[in-house]
Amino acid sequence: MIAFLRLLSRNRLALAGGIVMLCVVLLALIAPLLPLADPDVTNTAHRFKTPFTEGALLGTDHLGRDLLARLLWGTRLSLMVGFAAAMIAATIGAAIGIIAGYFGGRTDNLIMRGVDMLMAFPYILLALAIVAALGPGLFNALIAVATVNIPFFARNIRGVTVGIAHREFVDAARLSGMSDARIILTEILPNVVPVIVIAMSTTIGWMILETAGLSFLGLGSQPPQADLGSMLGEARSALITNPYTSVVPGVMILIIVMAINLLGDGVRDALDPRLKSGALSRPMAATLVNRTGPVPEPKGNGLLEVQDLETQFHVKNRVYKAIDGVSLHVKPGECLGIIGESGSGKSVTALSVMGLVASPPGVITGGAVRYDGTDLIGAPYKHLREMRGKNVAYIFQDPLATLHPLYKVGDQLIEAIRSHYSISSAEGRKKAIDLLRAVRIPNPEKRISDYPHEMSGGMRQRVGIAMALANDPDIIIADEPTTALDVTVQAQILALLDDLRKTRGLAIVFITHDFGVVAQLCDRVAVMYAGRIVEEGPTKAILDAPMHPYTARLMACVPELGEGKRRLEAIPGLPPVVDNLPTGCAFAERCHKSQTACRGSDIALVFDTGRAVRCLFPDNPNAEAAQ
Ligand code: SF4
Repeated sequence: MIAFLRLLSRNRLALAGGIVMLCVVLLALIAPLLPLADPDVTNTAHRFKTPFTEGALLGTDHLGRDLLARLLWGTRLSLMVGFAAAMIAATIGAAIGIIAGYFGGRTDNLIMRGVDMLMAFPYILLALAIVAALGPGLFNALIAVATVNIPFFARNIRGVTVGIAHREFVDAARLSGMSDARIILTEILPNVVPVIVIAMSTTIGWMILETAGLSFLGLGSQPPQADLGSMLGEARSALITNPYTSVVPGVMILIIVMAINLLGDGVRDALDPRLKSGALSRPMAATLVNRTGPVPEPKGNGLLEVQDLETQFHVKNRVYKAIDGVSLHVKPGECLGIIGESGSGKSVTALSVMGLVASPPGVITGGAVRYDGTDLIGAPYKHLREMRGKNVAYIFQDPLATLHPLYKVGDQLIEAIRSHYSISSAEGRKKAIDLLRAVRIPNPEKRISDYPHEMSGGMRQRVGIAMALANDPDIIIADEPTTALDVTVQAQILALLDDLRKTRGLAIVFITHDFGVVAQLCDRVAVMYAGRIVEEGPTKAILDAPMHPYTARLMACVPELGEGKRRLEAIPGLPPVVDNLPTGCAFAERCHKSQTACRGSDIALVFDTGRAVRCLFPDNPNAEAAQ
């Protein structure tokens, strides 16, 4: 609750709406305690007194009734009716939506067709028809307003429930023998309550307006009882001669509806977990760059040279150092492996190369990324866009998430080619078929017309590779492309990438957490931990004699065929959170060789005989690169 209020208070408009609403509600609540005139007593001798005259702060109406008293009492009534209508509509609508969504099938069909019939009528006509049938009166207006809003809640909540009812935790509850009613109350309802609150917060203002509309037409509150709508209706005849009688309730309606809408938007933003996490905020086209230090001089180390790269995530007042001074290079035809646990900074390093880290919250704060000697950090977006896919291409982990589900794979391949080269559709199709054949998709002429869901995981990943190859890039960054595949498909994909590297001279940066994959494909390997490289060198040298205790422990976790029985030692503890790294070695907490000196000051990456290690007491200290 405190976190919710804190989030809400950060939204200035919502805060302003909340304060205004609080004042209005307070005034309405204390109206009986205030020294106000009786709102219903007429005094024709004092009719149409203008505002700020003695004894009538806001003036009097056509019957001499005090407008201030009627305004506060009317506001009280309008708010009560609006909130009550919203509560009734939300409760009944949500119950209908949950039942329809949870049970599905015939129940869903029957209920939702009934809801559709209600929605087929213009809602104001439906409200008028209900009041006409029940007779004028505020209570009947409340029933009418609540009734016409029930379908809105039912449709909304039914959609959310359908998504939740097929989730694994609901299946687990069913398997555990829980009754439908208990599943609805304990599993479904807690998940839809935020949606109900959000829908309510954005519709209360609307319902107050609808009630005011009915009262304005004489179908809501009846004389002498005042609500905001009836005050407006009664002031109609004096609109030209005494406009303040209309302005007073009109301004109050405007204030209430605006304040509730602003507050409702804020409540929605604070309650929606995707908005809270920033997932729905639209990222910039390229990662924000805010380099404070000097740009490193180029060393001419390869086609792609990453130098002292620093990428951070700025979330509220926390700074997460996802990448802290990473340097890498890769030459044409070379494969560099980046390995480490989840959260070690592998993917952020890869995404930083082409400015693909989402901003906000990502910010590149230092270093350089040189492609063929040219620094790409801070390069104009147009330049980065031209290079993405054409010079540096990516293969992502989950092809089902990266391929568009509604377009055929062939169309997506052709689009990838035509975004860089102006070729005809026929040429694009021919090239797409060639690409599918190159990644060994059987019968490419037919498979080009498949949708992603019609292909197996391995086939989709091959399409992802084909897409990366579409524009003959010089560098491919493959971010765990085989993690979701079974071992036989994984072996085929790795063989394919290795073949392409040899035949096309591709430089590959291969991100993985699997030393087996590294051994099969990579010439060199960089081991990352807590956003930094802790060991780097030729793959064979590192596999034969790891120097950093973290590398050794990572390798010890991998079972080996034919090595007999041995205990697989998991690395104890968890990687540190990168917004609060310990002084000295980040691995010290989990390292069996840790000593006092390890926690004293920053540990440098020491280069020697073609290898680099960030450790004061490395294993195999005399190991050399050329083994
Ligand atoms: S510096 Fe110390 S704590 Fe860190 S890896 Fe080396 S031995 Fe372990």
